[in-house]
Amino acid sequence: MRFDIVTIFPAMVEQVLSAGIVGRAISRGTLDVTVHDLRDFTTDRHRVVDDVPYGGGPGMVLKPEPIFRALETIERDGGARPLVLLTSPQGTRLTQEVVQRLSRAAHLVLLCGRYEGVDERVRCRVDEEISIGDYVLSGGEVPALVIVDAIARLVPGVVGDQQSVADDSFSRGLLDFPQYTRPAEMVPPADGPAVVAGTMKVPDVLLSGNHAEIRRWRKREAVSRTLARRPDLLDTATLDDEERAILRTLKEQEHERH
Ligand code: SAM
Repeated sequence: MRFDIVTIFPAMVEQVLSAGIVGRAISRGTLDVTVHDLRDFTTDRHRVVDDVPYGGGPGMVLKPEPIFRALETIERDGGARPLVLLTSPQGTRLTQEVVQRLSRAAHLVLLCGRYEGVDERVRCRVDEEISIGDYVLSGGEVPALVIVDAIARLVPGVVGDQQSVADDSFSRGLLDFPQYTRPAEMVPPADGPAVVAGTMKVPDVLLSGNHAEIRRWRKREAVSRTLARRPDLLDTATLDDEERAILRTLKEQEHERH
């Protein structure tokens, strides 16, 4: 899968992309990511990418022409027309469902805004605006990295074990089950809250070697966690028969308690 990221801070984006799962996928050629410096698409001596807003007011606005030139260059080099995404707090909220939809594109271009944002006319070249949440960041670089990382996990060959992606929170509408590693038992931290004491031993079932029991325990934990923390997800979750039965039992138990 191919990504092109257009930014005024290429070093910031490249630094993050070089690490971890995404970094390895880029080195192996599973992902093709190019970071473009917006200033390379200016035509003036000072490589100016921003200007004051018409109508007055604080801050600066990213000029449209360098962005249009960057898109022209990327499209000329890239063959089929890519899907152009503008990072924006006003866009479609990024969810795992949106990530899944975007991962079906072969080529994505991500435009990173800065300052007060981009000139409104840029939107005529944008297929979709994407927000990573209802808060305002200083720039689109972190959102672009979030989008690339979330999509990359769904590209075959990027994450070593596809089952771990299938089990991830939200992939079927359930939160992931709790994970433990060694040691099997440990002394609670002296300053930890009292409730921690009960969780310092790994649940026996995970040490039992009984894979059927472990699978069932994990399903039960995933369903009960989702019910406790994000019951809204259960309205649209894709549950199998066993998970539906677990949910019914949990709801009955809750009902009896009240
Ligand atoms: N004035 C703009 C507004 O209120 O809609 C906010 C501009 S923000 C300071 C600068 C840039 O950061 C935006 O153009 C966008 O690229 C990026 N950005 C900020 N918050 C974002 C979010 N929640 N999701 C995606 N991009 C965001």
